[in-house]
Amino acid sequence: MTTKIPAWLDSGMEHIWLPYTQMKGAPMPLGAVETRGARIRLADGRELIDGIASWWTACHGYNPPHIIDAMKRQLDAMPHVMLGGLVSEPAAELATRLAKLLPGDLERIFFSDSGSVSVEVALKMAVQYWINTGETGRTKFVSFLGGYHGDTTGCMAVCDPEEGMHSLFAGLLTENHFRPLPVSADEVAAFDAFVARHRRELAGIVVEPLVQGAGGMLMHHPETLRAIADIAARHGVLFIVDEVFTGFGRTGTMFAVEQAGVVPDIVCLGKALTGGVVGLAATVAREHVFEAFLSDDPGTAFMHGPTFMGNPLACAAANASLDLFETEPRLEQVRAIESLLEDALTPCRGIDGVRDVRVLGAIGCVELECADDIPELKRRFVDLGLWLRPFGNIVYTTPAFVISEEDLHALTSGIETALGER
Ligand SMILES: *Cc1c(COP(=O)(O)O)cnc(C)c1O
Repeated sequence: MTTKIPAWLDSGMEHIWLPYTQMKGAPMPLGAVETRGARIRLADGRELIDGIASWWTACHGYNPPHIIDAMKRQLDAMPHVMLGGLVSEPAAELATRLAKLLPGDLERIFFSDSGSVSVEVALKMAVQYWINTGETGRTKFVSFLGGYHGDTTGCMAVCDPEEGMHSLFAGLLTENHFRPLPVSADEVAAFDAFVARHRRELAGIVVEPLVQGAGGMLMHHPETLRAIADIAARHGVLFIVDEVFTGFGRTGTMFAVEQAGVVPDIVCLGKALTGGVVGLAATVAREHVFEAFLSDDPGTAFMHGPTFMGNPLACAAANASLDLFETEPRLEQVRAIESLLEDALTPCRGIDGVRDVRVLGAIGCVELECADDIPELKRRFVDLGLWLRPFGNIVYTTPAFVISEEDLHALTSGIETALGER
């Protein structure tokens, strides 16, 4: 189907540099003009069923009225005020609510504006924690193959070495350690020995809990996360959990760490924090981490401060998003999506060229043997009226929790159809 490209898109694309895209010969992106629930309306009038909630953010669907209303009120009163020396009520309320929601004594909230920055903040916080407690030389991290923690350079340096393009950016990135996720008892013992051997240079262990998202929707058992937490505690290394993808219900509990019953030293939040309406992130520290920065010496203070941190408009959106988790049956909806995805995607295992099917919470993924036809698959999904964006050899859906059964069925049967045609 050929459709008319609006003039604004045509001229804009003379200047826009798209993410993760070889711009030479790149297909013209679709013009989007309106969103509603789990639907995206295009400039040419077509409507797509959204299967990925704009990179996993729009958990309540698009334009949730309760969030939009809260933002309109905040917009009139005070869209922004700096956090340095001033604190807005939405920021104060959000900090209080996050501290209450997170397990254990994860009580201290450091705001920022994107998931990557929340991870950067966690890394700096961990390194300075050790400096402040008088242990020098603890500047390295251990993270896991398949992990993804953001695109800024500190984050890249703890991403999977291939995913993080470590060889391309070798001179720029700090050197850290990478291990396979310890799944079997032998692997747990090997990881334990590794951390014991390196503990004097380690600031922290960085992990995505239960599912490694952008690295390929790779899922692990809560037991694995618990084993990593135990090892971190046993060897006195900070346990840093990146919940930027998993936070706010995506895996079936408000936070994925709840399923393992562990309390990280530092947690990173982003993506669905505002219900996907506007960018906001947070790094949350346990009391003992925060206390390491308290002293009569100004030199032990945490010297970081994104200009728009704690933006009142974004915090108002996040508070309204948390309201919806309280008033709407979001976690039940995730469980219903999980069982629907399990039923509907499992048959894809029988399709030629499919290597694996995985489901956890509102995440469904079909792993392919080969990724040669991903551009064609993307086009095919749009022709089927679906917004799905396979990456690598992964076809996945992470729908809004409010998606209707019909729309979810359209997504899964579209995946089955498109993969059956290959
Ligand atoms: C998306 C993501 C990030 C980076 O967040 P941005 O908002 O894109 O900077 C970090 N960690 C995980 C696990 C993510 O999924």
